[in-house]
Amino acid sequence: MVRLLHSTSFVYDENLLSYDFGQSHPFRPERISKCMDILRTKGAIGNNQNPIVSPRIASYEEVRQFHTVEYLDFVRKVSVDGNGILDSGDTPAFRGCYEASLAIVGATLTAIELVASGMADHSVNFAGGLHHARKGNASGFCILNDCAVGIAYLKKKYNRIAYIDADAHHGDGVIYGFYDDPQLLTIDIHQDGSTLFPGTGNYYETGAGDGEGYKVNLPIPPGSGDDILLSLANDIVLPVLKKHKPDYIIMQCGADGLEGDPLAQLSYSKGGLARFIDLIHDASHDLCGGRLVLTGGGGYNTNATAECWAEEFAVIGGAEREFLKEGAFSVSDPWILSKVKEMADAVKEALYLE
Ligand SMILES: [Zn+2]
Ligand SMILES: [Zn+2]
Repeated sequence: MVRLLHSTSFVYDENLLSYDFGQSHPFRPERISKCMDILRTKGAIGNNQNPIVSPRIASYEEVRQFHTVEYLDFVRKVSVDGNGILDSGDTPAFRGCYEASLAIVGATLTAIELVASGMADHSVNFAGGLHHARKGNASGFCILNDCAVGIAYLKKKYNRIAYIDADAHHGDGVIYGFYDDPQLLTIDIHQDGSTLFPGTGNYYETGAGDGEGYKVNLPIPPGSGDDILLSLANDIVLPVLKKHKPDYIIMQCGADGLEGDPLAQLSYSKGGLARFIDLIHDASHDLCGGRLVLTGGGGYNTNATAECWAEEFAVIGGAEREFLKEGAFSVSDPWILSKVKEMADAVKEALYLE
């Protein structure tokens, strides 16, 4: 449903495109500008209802809320000449990588503040979603973890925060960064770690200490399609959200689960992912006054990722939703369905759902 006086901000400026490992690297910043061009052409952004908002830059003190001093010193140092590798191999340094990372984190903080202050119902920073970065190291193309810094910021304002991760890869940096923290509920649907980086996120990983039961991991086999994504959304994600009643939802919308992505092997369609966002969007209005921020994340087919994010924006921005028509959805092989059912039943039992 389209709501009256409903506004969704698209956080963007060209500075965000400086987070760039080079033309030969699969992580492409132009996904964001292409997404914006699609929305602009359709007249879906750049108006009073859905404005484009320039982000601020994150401060050292803000990124210190999640990352260690030693690691930040290291990133600042390699950022000067841009030589070397930041992690074990996939994340090269580049000149200005520290400043570019602060820009990404600042854009996610801007998106979060717009919604927290009531200036916008929802907001998006598709340049963000760098969910692999750990407190003390870079990982998987992620230098500073904008989602985790955003959550650290939200923890001071709200009692209960929910983080939902739709990326094909497990959001290890966020999940283990708050693994014993009951203030943060995480729900992560991802390709099984035995078949994909970073290898973590088993269904029995449910949190530690006071955080036990607040981390929900839903690993699915390669080839899983929209039917699996949406049945897990309805059977587990929505009931868990209702049970925990979050005050604020932040969602990582990595689009590398799209069929044909060069780095992952899931089989979602754009319509399937958009439908997932639609469900979370409705839940945000039911549960927490619509306080919902979307970030980007993975997505290595540049054009498909840009189109997918444009559709996801249209879902929460109240634009036309032709892609939600029936028939766009991908269907999984029967053996995958039975394997996922087994996993989902075990998770439901562990979470006391139903
Ligand atoms: Zn990913
Ligand atoms: Zn809304």
